[in-house]
Formats: sequence, C-alpha cells, structure tokens
Amino acid sequence: MLSDVHNHLYAVDDPDAVVRESVEKGVGLIVTNAENVETAKKCVQLASRHDIVYAAVGIHPEYALTAPESDLDIVERMLGKEKVVAVGEIGLDYKFAKTRADRDRQKLFFSRQIRMAKEYDLPVIVHSRRAHRPVVEQLIGSDVRADLHWFSGPMGDVLNAVEHGIFFSFGPAVLYYEAYRAIVDVVPLELMMLETDMPVRFGGKEARPWWVRRVAEFIADVKRTSIDHVIERTWQNARRFFRV
Ligand SMILES: [Zn+2]
Repeated sequence: MLSDVHNHLYAVDDPDAVVRESVEKGVGLIVTNAENVETAKKCVQLASRHDIVYAAVGIHPEYALTAPESDLDIVERMLGKEKVVAVGEIGLDYKFAKTRADRDRQKLFFSRQIRMAKEYDLPVIVHSRRAHRPVVEQLIGSDVRADLHWFSGPMGDVLNAVEHGIFFSFGPAVLYYEAYRAIVDVVPLELMMLETDMPVRFGGKEARPWWVRRVAEFIADVKRTSIDHVIERTWQNARRFFRV
C-alpha cells in the first residue's frame, strides 16, 4: 500500500475528504505532522477519527523561535496518547534563525524533543534547512530513530546519515530537482520512506498523499526496480519505523 509519512493534513480545506480519497486511491498510512501545540492537537484529533491516520507531535524550528518553553511540556504530555507515533516536525532551520541566540533557541527545542522521543521510545521526523551538518551530527550523537524529511544536504552528510541507519523520506520534490537523483541513488531502499509535505504545492497544485506513487516511480527508475517493489518496501519500512 501507499504511505505518506510526512504531511500536514490539518492544513488542507477538507482533511476528511482528502483521507477518504486517499483510501480510495490505495493509501494505507498517513502521518500528519505538527508545527506547534495548536496543530499538534489537530493532528491527534484527525488520527483519532481515521484508521489510516497517525500523528507526529512537536514544535517546528520556525515556531521554536516564538513558542514558550512550556509548550514542550504540553507536547510531552501528548506523547503517550493513542496513535501518536513520532515527535515531529522538529529540527533546525538556519534560514529562519540567523542570529546566535535564535540558533541556540532552535537547538534547545531540538535537543529537548529528541530526549522526549527517546524517553517514550518514539522516532523523530526531522526538518533541516541550511543546517544539515549540525542536524545529522545531533541525530547520530543522540542515537535516536530518525527520518530526515525532504533532505537535500551535501552528499557527505547524506552518506554519514546512511551509515548510521537514519531514514530518508522523499517527496514530489525529487521530480523537480535534478540533484535528488544522486541522493536517491546512494540511499538504500531499506532506509527510504515516501512523503508529500502536503499542502506544499508542486507544479502549481497542492500535493495529495496519493502523489507518492509518482515518487515511487522515480525511485524505481533510479534503483532499476519495479514501482510495486518500491511501494511495498517503503510501506514495510514505514510500518517498522513507526511500529504500526
Ligand atoms: Zn513539513
């Protein structure tokens, strides 16, 4: 079955309709990722309403700059809830954090959320922009089950992450940026998952979970294997990664 392990389901006009259409089109697993406390609550609600939907809760690095630290306690209390399968979307984003103080703030939120994930034996879903080296080093150093979402880092960081068993989720961006071919080439299928980052737009249209089929098609082409094999393998990887 198709799996979309990183999207923001609450951000579309009619999330319930999108889930229904996803089921019709062969999607068996959706992990909707939070950005802050408010959207974390929405993720948990959506997961409780739909069989195929699971929640990742966390504070995104962009929100880490303005959210009070007490929000981390609220997130932590959500980790034991049913269908909360990961801490996400967390990470570092040096496009938003330009000063030393802002970067320290993001690092504080990132480290604390990694510690929380380990305490609850959950994986993390990680956002990394212009901060690839520190993100990968932090993940390796803390020995946490991790997925790098939409990762475009330099090859050295990709290889380092692969060597340490860190997962990569690839989305429709691979169809638009030639640089992804080399990354998809070096990441083994055993460490791959599929995502869309919905509601991000590609080619002028809001992504939908079933678009992962096109991503699988691209991966199959790079890996010289069948689309069905990529879909099945990423499905199994996702179920193992999130333990669902
Ligand atoms: Zn995202």
